Amino acid sequence: MALTDIRARIARAEAAAGRPAGSVTLIAVSKTQPPDRVDDVLAQGQRVFGENYVQEAQARWTDRRAAHPGVALHMIGPLQSNKARLAAGFFDAIHSLDRPSLARRLAQVGDDTGALPTLFVQVNTGAEPQKAGVLPDEVDGFVAECRRSGLTLAGAMCIPPDAADPVPHFRLLRSIAERNGLPGLSMGMSADFETAIAEGATHVRVGSAIFGARQATGELPS
Ligand SMILES: *Cc1c(COP(=O)(O)O)cnc(C)c1O
Repeated sequence: MALTDIRARIARAEAAAGRPAGSVTLIAVSKTQPPDRVDDVLAQGQRVFGENYVQEAQARWTDRRAAHPGVALHMIGPLQSNKARLAAGFFDAIHSLDRPSLARRLAQVGDDTGALPTLFVQVNTGAEPQKAGVLPDEVDGFVAECRRSGLTLAGAMCIPPDAADPVPHFRLLRSIAERNGLPGLSMGMSADFETAIAEGATHVRVGSAIFGARQATGELPS
């Protein structure tokens, strides 16, 4: 089965990198997947899932999470500031902290409601204009600003440019994370998660290799 295969590949990659078994968290990216595939992967014991859209995640996971103790939901898609409160109350982790206004909103929501999801700073390692994320040169200042506003940061996340060799991007993210005291590295997707593990990933975000190709959904709101 696909999930069993991915888990075995993660275990081999951990071992090959001399890293302890279980040191990498597999985030099964269920965005836009049909419900029966999600239920199948849940039935196989997977408990950590990634979603890109707040409303889609709520629709899919409110009942499933109640029925399956231990489910953890990670927001991996761009997050609008006006959805920060909703997202912080719903997700266990947010991987797309990518700008000061969102950091301020999340700090405020934490103060108001006590919601404190695990936070990863998204870094635009390829400095791609169309892509979200803090520019590599601006991460140190951004991290300092987040900490001043009271946020605790767990790690850094990147999505390397399409068709590029991901290794330089994984290494850049790792060096940025290390110098900022960020222990988590959210990097690696279906095509390159083993490479990411070799480069130190603590969280890999794997969708299509587990669930199969995503359905074309058109434009979904985040
Ligand atoms: C969709 C998505 C993934 C999963 O991509 P696959 O190539 O299907 O594994 C991982 N990370 C982010 C941020 C995504 O949007």
